[in-house]
Amino acid sequence: SPAILWFRRDLRLDANPALAAAMARGPVIPLFILDPADRPGAASRWWLHGSLEALGESLARLGAPLILRRGSPSEILPALTAETDARAIFWNRLYEPHLIGRDKALKSALTAQGIEVESFNGSLLAEPWQVRTQSGDPYKVFTPFWRSLAQMPFPAPHPAPKKCAGLSPLPSDDLASWSLRPSKPDWAGGLRATWQPGERAAQSRLAAFIDDAMVGYREARDIPAAEGTSRLSPHLHWGEVSPHRIWSAVEAATAAHPSGAEAGRAFLRELAWRDFAHHLLFHWPDIARENWKSQFDAFPWKEDTAAFTAWTKGETGYPIVDAGMRQLWQTGWMHNRVRMIAASFLVKHLMVDWRRGAEWFENTLVDADLAVNRASWQWVAGSGADAAPYFRIFNPVLQGEKFDGDGAYVRAFVPELAKLDARFIHKPWAAPDAELSKAGIALGRTYPKPLVDHGHARARALAAYEQIRNES
Ligand code: FAD
Repeated sequence: SPAILWFRRDLRLDANPALAAAMARGPVIPLFILDPADRPGAASRWWLHGSLEALGESLARLGAPLILRRGSPSEILPALTAETDARAIFWNRLYEPHLIGRDKALKSALTAQGIEVESFNGSLLAEPWQVRTQSGDPYKVFTPFWRSLAQMPFPAPHPAPKKCAGLSPLPSDDLASWSLRPSKPDWAGGLRATWQPGERAAQSRLAAFIDDAMVGYREARDIPAAEGTSRLSPHLHWGEVSPHRIWSAVEAATAAHPSGAEAGRAFLRELAWRDFAHHLLFHWPDIARENWKSQFDAFPWKEDTAAFTAWTKGETGYPIVDAGMRQLWQTGWMHNRVRMIAASFLVKHLMVDWRRGAEWFENTLVDADLAVNRASWQWVAGSGADAAPYFRIFNPVLQGEKFDGDGAYVRAFVPELAKLDARFIHKPWAAPDAELSKAGIALGRTYPKPLVDHGHARARALAAYEQIRNES
């Protein structure tokens, strides 16, 4: 009898263990459910549309057309088994606390109806319960987590099937009717110009990164103007590429060119941060909403709507922060170094609660990922596990000068500063009037003056931290 393959965040054919298991049973019914209880952000919805379109095309070519249904999985799955006589459902696991709860309940309800359900690991290098300290506890610190993860044997990824038996067409929603993409206004032009969702694009990006950029990764990964990182994050979030495929491709490339081994290792170590974030969220589900370090519960966050809005628009008057926030708005992505600077600015300079920043990122990032985003915000805020110490406050001018010395990144995203001399590009307020007028800048009119003075903001943040430091 046929088996249902429930696609979730594993929108690929390659290295897909649930697909391999379903195919071993007989004809496959590939299904994607749009569950109104899931609320992906606006940029994620845009991505999902493109990814489903690509998956639908690949599945149609294989001979097993993708079925789209909207509603609660607890109703759709039993209904589809009745419609098709399928006796088995396969899926790859997700690890957010609320989804674990949902999937457990589904599994027991379906099993009670005599339907076989089996789930697999399709999205992490190792599952959160597999990586343990010597005493059997979960890890709270990344470096030992990485050491232990890097020694684990990973399964060889299954190659993508060339053919797959399906059923004759079943009723399916029309993807366009889900309105995942914006129409009025259509704000997605920058996303379209930057990204190509789907498995094939993910694989070309991986191959291009390994061939061209991986050797220079350690030096270039902190330079926001360089194409120094893989930009695989949205593809990874939607499971268009498997982390095991990435791991084995990097290992194969470095076996062929041993001089690139250290660079490859550095990249895989970064990939492991994604697993680490899922590990933390799995073992401490509250960290999506609550401070890991509870003394931060007493932190005097400010409800400063005007400052928050200026930050979201990239109008803080600090060029590196503004460039990052505008890159995010235009392209749905921000370079990691600048994510750290922009997030730190919101939390420390403006003293706005990290959760407001995290929500903004979740709505605007194409790679928005609850586990990674929340763990990263807590890390920046100083409230997280293994976090950056609170008192280390990024100076946005020095960060800009260090990682974007000639201002290429600022010039690309803050065009009103494009003509400013590199000496002042990260601190336009320090430029003599003649320099400003030569560059066509009228501070306060064409580009904002700094929202807060760095020295003042730093002292204010440290004083607030001093108040909560000894509480627990
Ligand atoms: P590469 O350097 O090529 O790394 C390869 C892959 O490793 C990435 O695609 C990603 O899956 C993983 N990775 C790399 N760095 C990190 C990291 N620091 N933490 C966890 N995983 C990492 N990443 C997300 O995928 N989704 C988010 O919602 C997200 N929110 C963030 C919020 C803040 C405040 C910060 C500081 C970082 C956040 N990151 C998030 C982590 C990181 O910025 C991105 O993963 C990275 O910039 C993606 O670019 P890349 O694919 O070119 O990375």
